[in-house]
Amino acid sequence: MNSIINTQVVIVGGGPGGAASSVFLSEKGIQSVVIEKESFPRFHIGESMTGECGNMVRRLGLEEALHVVPKTIKHGVSVYGQGGINAFWIPVMRRTETGELEKAETWQVRRGEFDQLLLDKAKDSGATIVRGKALKVITNDENVPCGVTVRQEDGELVDIMADIVIDASGAATFLSTAGITSEKERGNYDRQIAIYSHVKGAVRDEQDNTLIFYRKKNHWAWFIPLDEETVSIGVVTPSSYYRSSNEDMRDYYLREMHKINPQLSQRVPDVNLVEEVRATSNYSYHIRNFTGKGFLCVGDAHRFIDPIFSFGLHFALTEAKFAADAIADYLLDGVGKDLENPFAEYERHCELGMDTIQDVLDCFWDHPISFAFFAHSRYNEDIIDIFAGRIYQKQPSRGLQAVRKINAKGRLAAADKTPDMMSAMAD
Ligand SMILES: Cc1cc2nc3c(=O)[nH]c(=O)nc-3n(C[C@H](O)[C@H](O)[C@H](O)COP(=O)(O)OP(=O)(O)OC[C@H]3O[C@@H](n4cnc5c(N)ncnc54)[C@H](O)[C@@H]3O)c2cc1C
Repeated sequence: MNSIINTQVVIVGGGPGGAASSVFLSEKGIQSVVIEKESFPRFHIGESMTGECGNMVRRLGLEEALHVVPKTIKHGVSVYGQGGINAFWIPVMRRTETGELEKAETWQVRRGEFDQLLLDKAKDSGATIVRGKALKVITNDENVPCGVTVRQEDGELVDIMADIVIDASGAATFLSTAGITSEKERGNYDRQIAIYSHVKGAVRDEQDNTLIFYRKKNHWAWFIPLDEETVSIGVVTPSSYYRSSNEDMRDYYLREMHKINPQLSQRVPDVNLVEEVRATSNYSYHIRNFTGKGFLCVGDAHRFIDPIFSFGLHFALTEAKFAADAIADYLLDGVGKDLENPFAEYERHCELGMDTIQDVLDCFWDHPISFAFFAHSRYNEDIIDIFAGRIYQKQPSRGLQAVRKINAKGRLAAADKTPDMMSAMAD
């Protein structure tokens, strides 16, 4: 017979989404148990923060603690176009109380140390951390999730019973795999592979910006300074292109680093790898119906679009805050108790932000020249807001409207072309 732990909220995953959910729940006086299968610190990709993500880190009370963690201050992101030209820079800026933009800073961190810091914060705030792997969801007679069975580090099984199950398991998508939410649908940027490592000896820009190097659609690289010496470099290409090279992953990584963009190759004349070369593929997916009675998902557990503009941590931390607010309303004030889905509004709100980023990315990939013009000049302030993560406004900005308009035109034109192409092929 499994031992039993009772709590109010059980959280699968102690990464940023899970740990931050727990901190925000503790602030409201709500108990939680966080289950994490890995021993921290562990390597994780996702090192560059948006401006509003940095604010969420401050809101979590981690700014002081970050002083002891290797990191760099990020002032903005520079995007280099094909061949190293047509570059544009988006500074990190916040909005003052009177609505003006002003300079701001955020961070680039090693996730091993950062995630450890956040999980320690969850523990210090009152969470119980269970080391082990969540194996299955426990449901009640009405098929509503009410707990999770966990195999702990020592092999013992424990049932953690709770009013609410949060899935913050990242790409493992625990509740989708268990059949509680919808199944994973492929995202727009599926079938790609990111190959990455940390290097020493790279030439960075004066400001330690995150740098993005574009070669062509879905073929690009990132350059993220992590401390005084180390830079995270990743190359992203279609998986089929990687497979057709028949190269060892390390050789491919080093060669592509010199091929993608001249602005990158001149920064890596002679680099030493100080981390294993790792890869993540097929990372773009979308899970719908990710809330319901007794459960909700946070961060990568329900959707990941594309890593190019560093929104993953932002979504994980911001949704953790939204989730804790929605759960507090439900558990403490009974909001939505009689509804079929008490967390439907939370789901709509999360999708609003993610859809905005999806549209911006579609525009960047499909209409790069127009996007550079919007970002650089026409809708500069609106794009600065979006890059900072101010993406939950119900009324879209003029810049976002323009992005959507050009996407819609592009789709119409593509649909119009299809019959012509078919008849051309038939000829
Ligand atoms: C190539 C690439 C580059 C990226 N670059 C950036 C970037 O520069 N900036 C950025 O903000 N984001 C970036 N991201 C995204 C970022 O990595 C994620 O969005 C972020 O880590 C999501 O946080 P999370 O808490 O939702 O999930 P995770 O950080 O993945 O945390 C999930 C945790 O759940 C645990 N877990 C899973 N299953 C179980 C289980 N059954 N039982 C117990 N524990 C479990 C895992 O061990 C893990 O610790 C990138 C992503 C990719 C693929």
